[in-house]
Amino acid sequence: MKLILLGVPGAGKGTQAAQISARLGIPTLSTGNILRAAIAAKTPLGLQVEGILAGGELVSDEVILPLIKARMEEPDCKAGYILDGVPRTVAQAEGLEELGVEVDACLFFDVPDAVVIDRLGGRRTCGTCNAAFHVSANPPNVADVCDVCGDALTIRADDEPETIRRRLEVFREQTAPLIDFYTARGKVKPIPCGDKSVEEVTALVFQTLELA
Ligand code: AMP
Repeated sequence: MKLILLGVPGAGKGTQAAQISARLGIPTLSTGNILRAAIAAKTPLGLQVEGILAGGELVSDEVILPLIKARMEEPDCKAGYILDGVPRTVAQAEGLEELGVEVDACLFFDVPDAVVIDRLGGRRTCGTCNAAFHVSANPPNVADVCDVCGDALTIRADDEPETIRRRLEVFREQTAPLIDFYTARGKVKPIPCGDKSVEEVTALVFQTLELA
């Protein structure tokens, strides 16, 4: 199964990707996580993109496409994968098609802006294993400690209020056209999230993918 998870930042894509990944035994491919790991390791790529992420802008398609192509060629991707945060532009979606990638479905996580702004402000992520929590909606067992690997939880640099606003704008300008792109290919499956809990959204996702 090859899935695309589409939705504004903070829509819950990473959290739901983890659930789907565990259920189907396929990896989540997150360009955001790949870029943040490069930044943390201070690689040439990391140094190149650090300011772009901090400003809430998108990294260029020319950087993203080879990155995701290399990741998709790794052996754990043979049975499929979940694309979280990629494609982010029509050019990236076309680039994936040119690589021969045919997805089974594009789940569109539809969440009101107000919900997302609250969520991103309270988001805490693990820099080691990428698990995501929320201070009130999905708190870790011990404050600021990752339930999964025990390392410290941190606030992502791009979860600052001004950057959140810019990321929402960027979504509307550059990523939302993908809804039409994949609707035209009969792939879009809407997930109306409202302010549903993580568990309720997971149930909806499994039902939509006929895994329930
Ligand atoms: P995410 O973790 O998916 O919210 O991504 C965090 C940031 O990484 C974004 O705001 C972009 O700056 C960058 N990024 C991640 N994925 C992409 C992509 N597919 N295309 C361009 N920039 C991306």
